[in-house]
Amino acid sequence: MAGIYIHVPFCSRFCNYCDFYSVKQTGRIDAYIESLLCEIEQRRDFFVKCNATPTTLYIGGGTPSLLSPDQISVITEKICSSFDIHSVDQLREYTVEVNPDDVNRDYLLRLRSVGVKRLSMGIQSFDDEDLRWMNRRHDSAMAKEAYYTARDCGFENISLDLIFGYSLLSEEKWIKNIETMLSLRPEHISSYQLGIEKNTKLGAQFARGEYSPLSDEESYLQYSTLQGMLADAGYRQYEISNFALPGFEAIHNSSYWDYSPYLGLGPSAHSFDGDTRSWNCSSIIKYINALKNGDRCFQGERLTSRDKFNERVMLSLRRADGLDIKSLQEHCTGEDYESFTKQLKVLLRQGLAVEEGNKIKIPSDKLFISDGIIRDLFI
Ligand code: SF4
Repeated sequence: MAGIYIHVPFCSRFCNYCDFYSVKQTGRIDAYIESLLCEIEQRRDFFVKCNATPTTLYIGGGTPSLLSPDQISVITEKICSSFDIHSVDQLREYTVEVNPDDVNRDYLLRLRSVGVKRLSMGIQSFDDEDLRWMNRRHDSAMAKEAYYTARDCGFENISLDLIFGYSLLSEEKWIKNIETMLSLRPEHISSYQLGIEKNTKLGAQFARGEYSPLSDEESYLQYSTLQGMLADAGYRQYEISNFALPGFEAIHNSSYWDYSPYLGLGPSAHSFDGDTRSWNCSSIIKYINALKNGDRCFQGERLTSRDKFNERVMLSLRRADGLDIKSLQEHCTGEDYESFTKQLKVLLRQGLAVEEGNKIKIPSDKLFISDGIIRDLFI
């Protein structure tokens, strides 16, 4: 399995918590598309070199729904013709992220006709006060309307996002958010704890002492509430932040966690070919200029065997399926494996990890603190 990610680095306004690379200069969209088509051309042998076939396409951002369906169609055609994808229907998954206030019936029908099979809608909350605080462009009514319109247009695989763990969010509000989400019954739900990133409005407020985050205990309670309510409603938690109805786990994201190759296109996008990680420059101007001159716009580093070991541990343990010990052993030296098992024994004794056949897993009630548990297993 392998995937292609396209980063669309434009937002017409910035959310207070977000540190993804994005600019407001939507006047540069045409130049960006032109450069993106050059970059696709430049990297058309990526999958040949790593002996993989791309099966998923994900257009994320930023705000991909600031592009017109015609622009998305041009990108799709170029991707298919450059990577030996005979028809867009050959892709196992084709997702576009959309903001609720950008889409209407016509837009969504056009996306369907381009071949987009799955939508990821950035809802974040169904509470209007919280949405205003986040500086989102939509309100709760617009989010629901966009969702129902997408259903009417024939989208049968929709993912919605919700954020928890911020100080405005009481437990009562959180339960209401989850109930509203469940009443829509999307196939897939992603939910992330709000982080405080340095280069954001929230980060600046935090530094000035104007924002106090929710305590870890309260955030943990919200995460547990989410896990319980979603499990009761038939969603399976297949990764720390991701839940799906049976058969609707995100295929594209799963290839990141499976350690499969992926190609990232567009400013700030990352790629992995099995040995090397590379990342594109995080500047729309540098990106456009580099591609205009026929230069590469990325740099990379070859992973050491230790990097690969640690990544394999981290990516596998994020997933409910866990870490396959046999396969890990095949990919490392005896010495590294010994140091790993020594630490693993401690975690098993403490109940922070469990062994099921050949698999090591983090128990579901410990997933909230999984970052620390995983770090303890690094060599
Ligand atoms: S969360 Fe999405 S819409 Fe908001 S600033 Fe970040 S990329 Fe843009």
